[in-house]
Amino acid sequence: YQRTIIRGCQLPAETEDGYRVQVHANIELFEEVSAVIDNGGEGIGLFRTEYAYLNRTDLPTEEELFEKYSDLAAIMSPRKVTLRTLDLGADKFMSHFGSLDEANPALGLRAVRFCLKHPDLFRLQLRAILRASVHGNVSLMFPMICGLREVLQAKSAVVRAQKELREEGIPFDENMPIGVMIELPAAVMIAEILAQEVDFFSIGTNDLIQYSLGIDRTNPHVSYLYQPLHPAVVRSIKYVVDAGHRAGIGVSLCGEVASDPYCVPILMGMQIDSLSLTPQAIPGIKRILRQLNMQECKQLLKEVLNCRTVSSINRLVTENIYKKY
Ligand code: PEP
Ligand code: MG
Repeated sequence: YQRTIIRGCQLPAETEDGYRVQVHANIELFEEVSAVIDNGGEGIGLFRTEYAYLNRTDLPTEEELFEKYSDLAAIMSPRKVTLRTLDLGADKFMSHFGSLDEANPALGLRAVRFCLKHPDLFRLQLRAILRASVHGNVSLMFPMICGLREVLQAKSAVVRAQKELREEGIPFDENMPIGVMIELPAAVMIAEILAQEVDFFSIGTNDLIQYSLGIDRTNPHVSYLYQPLHPAVVRSIKYVVDAGHRAGIGVSLCGEVASDPYCVPILMGMQIDSLSLTPQAIPGIKRILRQLNMQECKQLLKEVLNCRTVSSINRLVTENIYKKY
């Protein structure tokens, strides 16, 4: 990785009328940290922890995970690091467990469902995350939550791991924020209920679009139907942001939509608190954010919410881009 300092990307992401939004990075390797910092990332909004479990037949040890997470937390400190618990299944399988015989893996035993079925595996990762929490500004996030019961079960697993560590005299941050990804339509519809149980939401639009529109995100035959600006998707995102804010919690968005210049003004109109994107996309999105005007974004959102079709929304946002730049 060649270190290059990108001009202006260390400036805050603030609209021309002074509305501040956090711009974080999505990464999966420790080695990407320098790209995050050089591109002006203000923290890590999504660390995909799957990588350490793939391409091997054994499982990583608690010590191995702890070392990785604590190095990441320490090097990013005081910036935030959001560690997402294992999101395996669907397209990523661990050789240790073999591939499950599922007709529809995307609808199968994946992510938090898989972890709740394998409590030892989950426990070990939670202990490593908790132990890392004293080395920086760490948050924990559960993927693919579809109901309250899962949140409560996952949180109980955290409480059990905390109890163990306390008894062993191992330090951890008692106040580490715990959030959930909102990436299933069911989670959108019960956002008010989930908000009572967590410290933040992170909207995963890659999966939310897939499950809302019934489009396999990896299937090229239906990729033309994968539409981030479908009225159902826009309304879902707005619903989650409003529900989070009513409950007093922050709402982030970490799907590809966060790096889409056509979508960002709409997200700003919703007063999203942070965006998390691939490091290399940060400078461009920050530049756009710094030229936006919050009143114009709110007006655009209002018009978008009045649209009945994807094409009319697309037309509106395209006109908006041309008007602005
Ligand atoms: C998402 O679903 O939008 C997301 C960020 O998670 P992933 O792409 O890892 O499924
Ligand atoms: Mg996802």
